[in-house]
Amino acid sequence: MSKILEEAITVVSPEHCKGCGLCVISCPQDVLFQIDGFNSKGYHPADYTGEGCTGCGMCFYACPEPAAITVYKKGAEHDAA
Ligand code: SF4
Ligand code: SF4
Repeated sequence: MSKILEEAITVVSPEHCKGCGLCVISCPQDVLFQIDGFNSKGYHPADYTGEGCTGCGMCFYACPEPAAITVYKKGAEHDAA
């Protein structure tokens, strides 16, 4: 069941991420990082720390992989809310 988000969140699809790190360095809030583990292609995918995203979208626009990042703004519906 989806809920209305009380704050913005960013979700990375690990299998679409190629571990380039551009989202990490583009985030003004410094709330993205690359995990130590690997995805099936051998990349270290990015992930969201879980706190502090403003929904600015900088990571989305920095990412070269169209399906890797989704930014949900405050007030959006999301299953993981
Ligand atoms: S939407 Fe903005 S604040 Fe949120 S993770 Fe992306 S770059 Fe950082
Ligand atoms: S910019 Fe995109 S491809 Fe690069 S690490 Fe971030 S989510 Fe992965």
